[in-house]
Amino acid sequence: MTDRMELKAYGKINLGLDVIRKREDGYHEVKMVMQTVSLYDKIVMERTDKPGLYVETNLPYVPNGKENLAYRAAQKLIDEFGIRDGLDIKIRKMIPVAAGMAGGSTDAAAVLVGMNRMFRLGLSKRELMKRGVPLGADVPYCIMRGTALAEGIGEKLTRLSPAPVCHIVLVKPQISVSTKEVYGQLRADALKPEQHPDIDGMCRAIEEQDLDGVIGRLGNVLETVTAISHPEITTIKRLLMEHGAEGALMSGSGPTVFGIYKDREKAAEACRFLKEECGPRLTRQVFLTGFFNNRKLDGQREKCHEK
Ligand code: ATP
Repeated sequence: MTDRMELKAYGKINLGLDVIRKREDGYHEVKMVMQTVSLYDKIVMERTDKPGLYVETNLPYVPNGKENLAYRAAQKLIDEFGIRDGLDIKIRKMIPVAAGMAGGSTDAAAVLVGMNRMFRLGLSKRELMKRGVPLGADVPYCIMRGTALAEGIGEKLTRLSPAPVCHIVLVKPQISVSTKEVYGQLRADALKPEQHPDIDGMCRAIEEQDLDGVIGRLGNVLETVTAISHPEITTIKRLLMEHGAEGALMSGSGPTVFGIYKDREKAAEACRFLKEECGPRLTRQVFLTGFFNNRKLDGQREKCHEK
């Protein structure tokens, strides 16, 4: 058995996010294009002689122990498989927190994948994804990674071809938002038809490797909530566009905003501008990154849910 493992837990952005309706059980039915980015949290997992599960992070405002989603993921497999060894998990956060980038979900996903290997549990990817659902709607996607269409409450996943290569500038403003509150304030039934992004068109553009088609269809209905209460989101989008972005959008429930660039030099210059000339007044974290895809999966349309 492996005693120590280093894992990369990658963040995501939404190239498109539509809310179809609010279900009777209170959950929102969504249709989203998900994309993994190269920005990751580093997780070190160690099997120890000291019994018990320990989870800690490097940030004072991210919970340690039971409140951490990675803890809940580990506990789930410990209970199911009767694991008796001690487990020590240290998370070094890089992904902005409470920022629409699935930071907690991806840490939980990495722990499920890592424990499966460390304790030789023999679970398939699909079986791991199933165990991720009760932890959070984004956890199965964070196990799958890459470019995907997410439907249902986000757990019904269809793999898409890897989105065309480009450069991404990620900007986390000073504010943080709660996903629950944003969805709570959304009036899905009051959205006008033109406010819904063309998710099917975006999927087609991705399959055709048409970057302009993807950029032309960027859209997120949750901007109608978050950007109204936080005008800095619109300001950052404008600044990205003024500094060479081909398109800009808020990710998830926000407040992280990303800009898409064809030219790396322009992306690097925008990054410098937003970091040095706008932070810390407007921006808290700024990253130059890109899409993370497993190119071996090119062309495969893999369904990861039962219809
Ligand atoms: P999503 O896009 O999935 O809604 P998010 O990116 O907006 O998520 P997270 O970074 O997952 O938000 O953080 C949401 C809350 O979850 C935080 O305020 C934090 O208290 C809690 N949390 C629990 N575990 C973690 C973790 N491992 N990393 C970050 N936050 C965590």
